[in-house]
Amino acid sequence: MQARSHLIFGIGATWLMHRTGWAASVHAWPLTLVGALLPDIDHPKSMLGRRVAPLSLAISGLFGHRGMTHSLILPVLAIVGCIYGWGHVPPWMLALCAGYLSHLLADWLTPSGVPLCWPLRTRFRSPLFVSTGSAAEWCVAAALAFVMWRWW
Ligand SMILES: [Zn+2]
Repeated sequence: MQARSHLIFGIGATWLMHRTGWAASVHAWPLTLVGALLPDIDHPKSMLGRRVAPLSLAISGLFGHRGMTHSLILPVLAIVGCIYGWGHVPPWMLALCAGYLSHLLADWLTPSGVPLCWPLRTRFRSPLFVSTGSAAEWCVAAALAFVMWRWW
């Protein structure tokens, strides 16, 4: 999906955290937006990849687009690392991981799917999917925005 849609999904992660009482700190919420863009750091022309071009090029060269950064390995390692190091997962990490997972969910809705169990090559994809940049993508993002607006 495109960055704008990922941001809407990131706001959706914030909305879900708000609705469920997770990460009560409002200051952590912007991190969901960072998390929602973070997996596409593996694409040098993405919104985030353009801002950190050398790092993006390196990750792209090592793993390709929709490789390691589009799996569950990084959020799982982050959560396990927090629990191991601090005994709990701080709200800012919950927010970052929620945004990250929102990105994976959004890309799961596309024909390419996501390799959730990387390095295994199996890609997971929704049975109903939308092409990136299509009108259907905008309909999905608009529907999500409407749900959040209606039930905030
Ligand atoms: Zn992506």
